[in-house]
Amino acid sequence: MTDPPLPERNPLFDRRPTRQIMVGGVPVGGGAPITVQSMTTTKTADVEGTLAQIYALAAAGADIVRCTCNEIEAAEGLAQIVPRSPVPIVADIHHQYKMALAALDAGVHCLRLNPGNIRRPEHIKAVAEACKDQGIPIRIGVNGGSLDPSLYEKYGGRVTAEAMVESARHELAFFREVGFDDVKISVKASSVPLMVEAYRMLADDPFFRDDEGRSVPLHLGVTEAGPLPGGLLKATAGIATLLNEGIGDTIRYSLTADPVEEARAGRQLLESLGLRERKGLDLIACPSCGRAEVDVIDVATRAQEALDGLQIPIQVAVMGCVVNGPGEAREADLGIAAGRKRGHLFVKGKVVRVVPESEMVEALVEWAKKINDEGIDAVLDQADEHAAEEAEKDRLALLDAKGDDANQAEQKIDLIRKHVGAGTDD
Ligand code: SF4
Repeated sequence: MTDPPLPERNPLFDRRPTRQIMVGGVPVGGGAPITVQSMTTTKTADVEGTLAQIYALAAAGADIVRCTCNEIEAAEGLAQIVPRSPVPIVADIHHQYKMALAALDAGVHCLRLNPGNIRRPEHIKAVAEACKDQGIPIRIGVNGGSLDPSLYEKYGGRVTAEAMVESARHELAFFREVGFDDVKISVKASSVPLMVEAYRMLADDPFFRDDEGRSVPLHLGVTEAGPLPGGLLKATAGIATLLNEGIGDTIRYSLTADPVEEARAGRQLLESLGLRERKGLDLIACPSCGRAEVDVIDVATRAQEALDGLQIPIQVAVMGCVVNGPGEAREADLGIAAGRKRGHLFVKGKVVRVVPESEMVEALVEWAKKINDEGIDAVLDQADEHAAEEAEKDRLALLDAKGDDANQAEQKIDLIRKHVGAGTDD
């Protein structure tokens, strides 16, 4: 049930070539690891509240955090937040170009401009010039929901992929007029097919490439994806589709949820695709079936809660039975399988302890810490010499009790045949 190990060369690493920009100390594009972004939901003027959220986002996996800069108090807040933030800060600018200049004064590491909302060329160029002078990049953040009205009309009163790409092109043309092209671009829509089409178009458009054929780095996202779990699925469908095509240098899940969920989801997506190294726990669990000797959902939930805060980068398996569990999860660093009111704790498929069912989660936590402190080989040496034998006894006893047909399908089929046969006789 575990994923096979990654091939030596993961085709997902074959990224389309992009230029690299620096958001503070974090590289984006140009072969750098794909980064995770999220956005604070606090008032930026609330310095302590915003910093607390930024720290929580960074701990959950965000490499870069965006804060709104919609009023002078927000810009003043940024001046205090930026020096104390553990990650680079992007200021989100919508309508007032002066807020962009104020955010630069505050020392932010990047601006996000919405071309649909700041439309006067002299304002756009003033911001680009200031960014050029200070060496600060800009994200051109096109949003299907706030497209420039003239483009909306040009494309028949509809938001199309062409219209979104054209919006990005207009904005970049203004930047280039003042000799500035330190940008990344997003063309987000709440419709997954639409955003996928727009990003593909953008990635293929020579206008966005430099002399060496490298495109501008792209920031992926499905905007207004919504609450969990539907929002997660929509965002994953869009982002993963594009990543699989080699498109995308940085990602953001836009969820109607605690932004920590966004950071966590982004990080987990990249880790599960093998695009980032595992930073924290990867809990796998069997889906349970008629063989299960324990409530797998309950044990997996408790294990997740107990292990989540430890930030130990290992894969842990919770398996419902000892008949197939340890074998199916043999690639996991650590796992537990239930059998005859006992838990079989295994490391890389080898049973190291047999513990009472009530202590399964505690045993997982204890051994996860051990693995983290001492390494896999050292803990394998500490395996209880009788554990494998005990485990085998449980496994054989269960096989004996339930046979190969754990769901008693054969018995049920016999019953059906008996009843149908009886009915026919009548
Ligand atoms: S209970 Fe056992 S056989 Fe059933 S899904 Fe879980 S590990 Fe597999």
